[in-house]
Parts: sequence; structure tokens; C-alpha cells
Amino acid sequence: MVIEQFGKQKVYFDNLSDGKIKTVFKQMKGRKALVVCSKGNRARIGDCLNQCGQNKVWFSDFSSNPVYEDIKKAVALFLNEQCDSIISLGGGSAIDVAKCVKAFCNMDEKPEYTKQQISPNAIEHLAIPTTAGTGSESTHFAVLYEKGRKKSISDPSLLPDYVWLNPAFIKTLPSYQKKCTMLDALCQAIESFWSVRATDESKKYASSAITGILRYAEPYLEECTDKPAEADILWAANLAGRAIDITQTTAAHAMSYKLTSNYNIPHGQAVAVCLPGVWKFLISNTEKCTDVRGREYLEGMLRQLTRLFGVESNEDAVKALEAFYQSVSMEKEAVVAKEDLEELARSVDMQRLGNFPVKIETKDIYEIYAGLTQENAGNDAEYIYWYTASRMAAVREERYNILKVMPQMAVCFQDKKRRMRHGAFLNA
Ligand SMILES: [Zn+2]
Repeated sequence: MVIEQFGKQKVYFDNLSDGKIKTVFKQMKGRKALVVCSKGNRARIGDCLNQCGQNKVWFSDFSSNPVYEDIKKAVALFLNEQCDSIISLGGGSAIDVAKCVKAFCNMDEKPEYTKQQISPNAIEHLAIPTTAGTGSESTHFAVLYEKGRKKSISDPSLLPDYVWLNPAFIKTLPSYQKKCTMLDALCQAIESFWSVRATDESKKYASSAITGILRYAEPYLEECTDKPAEADILWAANLAGRAIDITQTTAAHAMSYKLTSNYNIPHGQAVAVCLPGVWKFLISNTEKCTDVRGREYLEGMLRQLTRLFGVESNEDAVKALEAFYQSVSMEKEAVVAKEDLEELARSVDMQRLGNFPVKIETKDIYEIYAGLTQENAGNDAEYIYWYTASRMAAVREERYNILKVMPQMAVCFQDKKRRMRHGAFLNA
């Protein structure tokens, strides 16, 4: 079992179920844990918890984008059952619900929890991710939806105390979900790398995450049995989470949220389609540097990032990213409707862009979104299928043979032979 320390957090990395992981459960000081996970996931740890004699109450009554009401129920259960620790098992949502319970459980019921100041408490939280992407298990912030609006809460105390990374839990993920969550991790790492908040430590995490994902994406997605790569991608995604814990995300994430809410494009994919345009903007506007370390630092950092993609020039690095998208059967182009451009550009919270290392304005955001319209997306006809993003989430196959022609609210995918496998590209 690998054990790493990340700040106050202990990260356990182990495929072996029960036996060793009992030591993790036993480390938790609480007498009774609130276990936040979907009903379907309960069986994964139920026996182990029982064998450890861990007292517990299950909480599964939350949606995939947790809303305030879900959180209120979880807090009420935590208090009524007199729990004193939290275990979360699942994707980002389960882990975020658990963080919210920890943040809110010592607050008054009124006014809304989200209006109150978080005062840190010693309630222990063990987070167990079942996707390799969000990295939420290693960040100190959480997302919830209140009255339809996305809200973030953050406090250093919300970093889970323990993390258990178990590659076996990732194995059963549907391939489309694997892809979206992995792309989220890759983009988080790239954005973290250029963030004005980047430090030597965050860049170390981000660069390991990027190289890990580029190297292991293919065996991971193709589920190679001779070289299983779940552990590598899970580890890389965790490192990307640690990187954004330090730096937060930047422009591509800020631009992605409206694509998800308007077009129903899954988070990881929405970020991935925004990132090449954002990157191109960055490399051609270094004179607008806002990073206090100056333009020279910024350009040096961009060269480092370029080298992680195994190429020489900044422009080639963006191309390498696009080639990587192709290698995992995802084109960069999300097609946004031309008439939505204004609304999209206005929706991006300019303050959030403060982590981006060059000055970027609404008109620039507009142009980047414009690169995602049908006329600018550079379609090469016969292989392209138009397909609503909401339906895509249901598709589990990588070969989109049955796709229907549905322009406008669509994402463009290509099903042509993988022209540029990222491995071949990077070795060229
Ligand atoms: Zn993300």
C-alpha cells in the first residue's frame, strides 16, 4: 500500500480491498460515520465497514449535481443520528455532499448555510473516489446548486483527512464516462500549470498528471487486460486534483459551465472543447501578462508545458492536445449556435478569470466561443455525426454508428480511423 501525505491529508493508494484498508477505517477516530454514497455503491464497502465494527448511517438521497435541499437533508441526518465522522464514496458529487455536511453541520439552520461563515471543525472525512477525474478527494472546495445557481464553498478545513484510491472501483466505469472524467483531469492539470497561483509544488503535480494521462489514456480507455491502466489514470487524476487545490482552475473551466447548463455537455467534455482556444489565446497574448512573475516567467512556463507534450513550439503543443482528443475519439469542436455567442460570452464571470495569466476580456471570450460554431469548427464532412450532447451521455460505445443528424445543440464527434494516435504523435 502506498501512503502519501498531501498537506494534512493521508492518501492511501491500494488495489487490495478489505485486509489493508481496514487499517484506514480503523484510523478514523469517530464512533459513528455518515456514509455518503449512492445505493448502488453501498455493497463496495458495506462488508468491510461491518467487519471493522464501524457504526454507520447511509445517506444516498442526493442528485448528480447536488442541490441545497439534498445537503440540508444530509446535515439533518448527520445531526439526528449523532454522527461524528464522514465517509464519502463516489464521483465528485458524493464527495462534495460530504464536504458540505462537514462545513455546515456546526452552523445555525437559518439563514441559509451558504450565507454563513465556515468555522473549521475536527470531524474526520475519508473520501473514496469511484471516477478518475474531478480530483475532488484532494481539494478543499465543493460545488452545490442553490436555486438553480452554481455555488462554490471553500475552506482549508474541507480537504478530506483521508483518501483511499482503489483502482478496482474505476474498472466498471462506462467508457464514455471514463473519457469525460479523464479529460477533466487533463484540463485541470493544464490550467493549473499556467495559473497565476501555480507554485513549484503545484506544477510538479500538474506535470506528472499531464504526462501520466498522455501515456496511459489509451490502455485505460481500451481496457487492456495485459497492461491495466486504471491505477495510473486514477493516480494522475488525483495529482491533478492536488494541483488545482493549490491553484484553482482558469478560463477554460470558467467558459465551460454555460456549455454544460445550456447544451447539457458533460463537464469534462465542455472544458476540453474550450481549452484549445483558450491556450491559443494565451500563447499569442503573452504581452498582456498579469502574472506578477512577469512575461519572461510566463513564456518560460509555456515552454515547459510544451515540452510535456513532447513537442518544440507552443503552437505544436495545442496541436498535440487536439491530436490527443482525436486519439481518444473526441474532436475539439463543440458546436455552439451563432445566436448564442453574446449570451455565452456575457455569462462568464470575469472575476473568476483572475487566475488566468494574461488579461482576457469579454470580446476575447466571444471570439473563443465563436471558434466553436459550426462554420468555424473546420468540419470535414463525411465522418462527422451531429448528435445532441444529452443523448451522448447515454452512449457507452466508442463507435458512434447509430448517431442521428441533429445540428445546433450538438457536439461534433468523428468516428474515422484514429489518424493520429497520441503515442505515435508524441514519438514522432
Ligand atoms: Zn473540472
